[in-house]
This record gives sequence, C-alpha cells and structure tokens, in this order.
Amino acid sequence: MRNAPTILHLDMDAFFASAEQASKPSLRGKAVIVGGLGPRGVVATASYEARVFGVHSAMPMAQARRLAPNAAYLVPRFGFYRSISDQVMGLLRELSPLVEPLSLDEAFVDLEAGGTAWDEASARLAGAKLRADIRAVTGLTGSVGLAASKMLAKIASEQAKPDGLVLIEPGTERALLGPMSVRTLPGVGPATGDHLRRAGITTVDEIAEAGEDELVRLLGKAHGHALYAMALAHDERPVVAERGTKSVSVEDTYDVDIHDRVRVGLEVRRLADRCVRRLRGAGLSGRTIVLKVRRYDFSTLTRSETLRGPTDDPAVVREAAARLLDSVDTTGGVRLLGVGVSGLADYTQEDLFAQAQAQAQAQGQGQALGEREDQGVEQGGTEAAEERQQAGPVERRWPAGHDVTHAEYGHGWVQGSGLGRVTVRFETPDSSEPGRVRTFRADDVDLEPADPLPLVARRPGGGGGGGSDGGGAASAGTGVTPAASG
Ligand SMILES: [Mg+2]
Repeated sequence: MRNAPTILHLDMDAFFASAEQASKPSLRGKAVIVGGLGPRGVVATASYEARVFGVHSAMPMAQARRLAPNAAYLVPRFGFYRSISDQVMGLLRELSPLVEPLSLDEAFVDLEAGGTAWDEASARLAGAKLRADIRAVTGLTGSVGLAASKMLAKIASEQAKPDGLVLIEPGTERALLGPMSVRTLPGVGPATGDHLRRAGITTVDEIAEAGEDELVRLLGKAHGHALYAMALAHDERPVVAERGTKSVSVEDTYDVDIHDRVRVGLEVRRLADRCVRRLRGAGLSGRTIVLKVRRYDFSTLTRSETLRGPTDDPAVVREAAARLLDSVDTTGGVRLLGVGVSGLADYTQEDLFAQAQAQAQAQGQGQALGEREDQGVEQGGTEAAEERQQAGPVERRWPAGHDVTHAEYGHGWVQGSGLGRVTVRFETPDSSEPGRVRTFRADDVDLEPADPLPLVARRPGGGGGGGSDGGGAASAGTGVTPAASG
C-alpha cells in the first residue's frame, strides 16, 4: 500500500435531488424525492431536507410518501444527470488518467498516477480545488475522501458528507476502522453481514480478532482471505481506468438439448450458485439477476429482474433465476443456459442508478438506457414489461419533474398531471424566485416536452464549460446559478 493519501474518492451530494433543486428554484431548501413513482417504485435519491423525515434511498416509494407527504416527488431525468456527470468526470480526468467511475456521481481517482499529488499537502490541495471546480462548473456540491487505499478513500468521503473533504492520514487506518461495522468493508453485503453476526462478529476489530482461519471457515477461501485483509486495512486494489467488470455471469452449453423441465431448473440453480461464488470471490454484490436461455432453434432470450437491494446471497440469486425461468417456454429443448448478476457494487451499497433506471424504464421514461446496458441484459426486464402492460394504450404522458415548453409561457416543468390535466411551473435554473404555476389540458397543443436547461449558464467566451454541451439546450440566461444544497 502506498504511504501517501493520494487516492481520491468523489461522491456528489444527494446527486439526483440536488440536480433537481438546482434546476427548479421553487424546490431549493425543500424536501425532494426522486425515484420510481409507480406502485412498486423505490426512492433513488432524497434531498437532505427529505432525509430529516427518515426517507432514504432504496426505500419503497409508498413508505416515503407516508413519511414525507408534502415532499416534491419527481421522476428521474437520466439524460440530464448524465450530462452533469460528464462534466464532473471531465474534471476528474484533468487530475489523472486513472479515473474509475462507480456510478454517475461517484468515482475513484489515482492522483499520484496523474502527478497531481504526492503527499498529504498536495492531495488536500487537489481535493479542495476539485470541489471548487465542480461547484463552479455544475453548480452542485460533491464530497471528497482522500486516503492511501480505495477502501479508506470511500470511507473518508462518506464521513465528509455533505459538502466536505476528509483525509485519512496513512498509519491511522486500523484505529479508525476497528470500531466500525463489518458492513463498512467492501464485499460485505446483507447476507455476509448476517452470517458474520451469527458468528458473533459485528465490528471490523472482531474480524481481526477472529483470525484469518476462522474467516475462511465462515466465508470460504477467496472471500475469507479478502475480508481479513480489508479488516487489517490492507487494500491493494488499484484504480482502474474503466470499470473492468460490469456483470459477473456463467453459462453452460449442452451437447444434447435438455428437454426435461426439472433438469433445466436444476441446471439454473447450479449456475446461480457458481455465479455467486464468482461474485463473492471478486468481493462484489449486484442487484440485477439475469437469466439467459438459448433454445433448440438458436433463439436466445434474456430475462432480468432487479432486486430492491444488492445481494451476494446464493438463495436470493437462485430464487430470482427460478422466477425468471418460469416466464420462459423451454418446450422443444434448451441448448445453453446462463445466469448473471449485474448492477454491481464493489461496496455493497445500492447501485441506485440501476434501480432508479429500472423504475423509469417501467414507466416508459428511461432516457439514458443504452449507456448502462450490460451485455446480454434485455431492455426492460420482466418487471418493466409487466408495468407497461398495465399502462394500457399510449397517451401523452407528463412525468412529474420533466421539462416542458409552452408557446406563450416559455420553459417550465411538470408539477403534476392526471385526469386529463397537467400542472406546470414556469421557471428556469436562473430564475431568481419560484415561478408561476398554471394548469392545462393534457392534450394542449401549445405544450411540448423540452430538453433540460444547463444549471450553470455558459458565459460568452467559453467560461464555465467543462467541455460538455450540457443538457443539449441553449441557455437563455447569463450568470452563475448558486449551488442548491449543502
Ligand atoms: Mg452520491
């Protein structure tokens, strides 16, 4: 492990919600909840104001509504978030060629590899400058963790939240980690966490005390070794420029087509177990389970299901794969079967993007779908298909929070819709005060969907750029929008 805190972890603060607040002046300082608004929707991001009510990401939306009935509930705008993400990632790449994005709003950067920092002072300086740049270019805040390893850098950024910077001095890692929950360590998902707890191990110190042999006995060789090393703060994982693994999957081709449905079920179960072993071996967990079936006539289908939270539990993966198999007709024979897990987190935190995306997809609103497609994952898993059927015939949809433009009143966003009406608030990121609200018929010809406006207006002469072309819409105003939330 290096002896300078030159690995940086950036995590934007309440990213989706902060972007919405920056975009919609009337929501600044208010409880904002972004996520799937359908019957099985979950919270993708809650603003800090909403977290006060106990709302947090991955919570079922129905529960959030009970806790915070007066919050603003918005459907995610992935294209918009991605355009901001591109600006942020661009700033990170100015620091080093070694940038490893974990999601739209989170990444590791190896500052030493970029020659940007070599000791504590230079690392702190680079982190502070980055935070200022992000604020200037995007109008949003991000928190920075600095440490000598990825694991500790991530823990540091968590401690820095919101809108802060924490540096963990090399040499202090073990004392810091010791009292923390085992769930803090990468690769400890809910299942592993429970398993350890039943063995009387709840803190990182207790892992170290239990010893490597005991860990291997409890969790198997690969996982046990890896976890023991992490508990001693040994983390040699390098920052890799692009994420190497987007999904972990295994498949088998059969010499003779399998016709027996029971045998197909057993094979799927076996593949699920193998897939989980590989997943755990890599210290990963994931939330989307994928089943691949190639039939006798070479037609290949994939079915996927996105869980509420990431898992590394073989029973959960087995059950999901079995459910997916139920929806596949295998009469005629099967020549190949595969089971995979995607939506990976090397920290067993929710991959909220994947989750929210699945929700948006279910509502027919996914925009930036292509980018996160893992090979073999079919667009719109079983869940999406189901909800689409319920949605009935196509009509004009006005998802809450999405941009619109009106021939007379200009740019605004959908505050709500239903019963043939749509309510729009007319305001833009640089409006100095909350805009006016008006209601229209849902089929009003003067009302059109619109592209999001950039949060920070670009100044003539190529100011606050970052090289990205923002939300794809021309900016109307001038000046810099202040950051939305702290
Ligand atoms: Mg974040």
